[in-house]
Amino acid sequence: MRSKLLVVLVLLSLCLSWQTALFAAEPMKALIVDGQNNHGNWPQTTEMMKSYLEQSGLFHVDVARTAPQGTDPNYAPKFSDYNVVISNYNGANWPEATKKSFEEYVRNGGGFVVIHAADNAFSDWPEYNKMIGLGGWGGRNEKSGPYVYLDKDEKLVRNTENGPGGHHGSQHPFHVIVRDGEHPITAGVPRVWLHSQDELYDFLRGPGENMKILATAFADPKQGGSGRHEPMLMVLEYGKGRVFHTPMGHGNISQECVGFITLFVRGSEWAATGKVTTKVPEDFPTPDATSVRPFKK
Ligand code: ZN
Repeated sequence: MRSKLLVVLVLLSLCLSWQTALFAAEPMKALIVDGQNNHGNWPQTTEMMKSYLEQSGLFHVDVARTAPQGTDPNYAPKFSDYNVVISNYNGANWPEATKKSFEEYVRNGGGFVVIHAADNAFSDWPEYNKMIGLGGWGGRNEKSGPYVYLDKDEKLVRNTENGPGGHHGSQHPFHVIVRDGEHPITAGVPRVWLHSQDELYDFLRGPGENMKILATAFADPKQGGSGRHEPMLMVLEYGKGRVFHTPMGHGNISQECVGFITLFVRGSEWAATGKVTTKVPEDFPTPDATSVRPFKK
């Protein structure tokens, strides 16, 4: 009788440990691409984003860095090993084969996240511009696609007039307004919140296809801005792939904003899985006050 009980107990404990192993999910794999950027703080912002993703418990993060200048002929990350790729890269073109393998990765369902300055890159790579929807600088103009924004009446506009793509006024804290609170990335986020000091990109233009604007910020002419409600959080579909684009994140302080941290992690999770489990934290910015977490290595 006793030995039977023992067998049952051993089986039960085996069963439990097997279950624990099953439910303690392995972290997903994320890759940050960087190596060249006109924003000199890129090594720090890569460090910050890596830490935000790893602290979430959702991801293990690798970094794939190019040579410091020019097209790096040896740059060939194995994108297909990853659930999501995050770009902190604004530099020379990648080798053709690397560009093709990246297109294939996203088209086949890979996640992609693009932030401030990385949306300046690759103005002459059409597939990249379809992925990010809107971009700036690098000679972008009416040939790149329309300006996409909300006008004074908060109506969505695709403006095809001639003009350069990409501009910003002075850096300042600004309100981000959620336009779609139903999306997994923005669900539960305050409708209006104050982002810490950042460079508010305006006049971005691009194909803007299969793109949904989740949040905007008013580029105040008093700060040198466009007078338009500019897209700040966007989601796009590219083949089977999901793309999350935020033009926020210029300075270290911009990326220390709890709003940036939360939406960056949520956007990365959504790009990887199509779902969001990351909670909106207690210290999320309010409509009246910014909230930053000073970054410690
Ligand atoms: Zn910037």
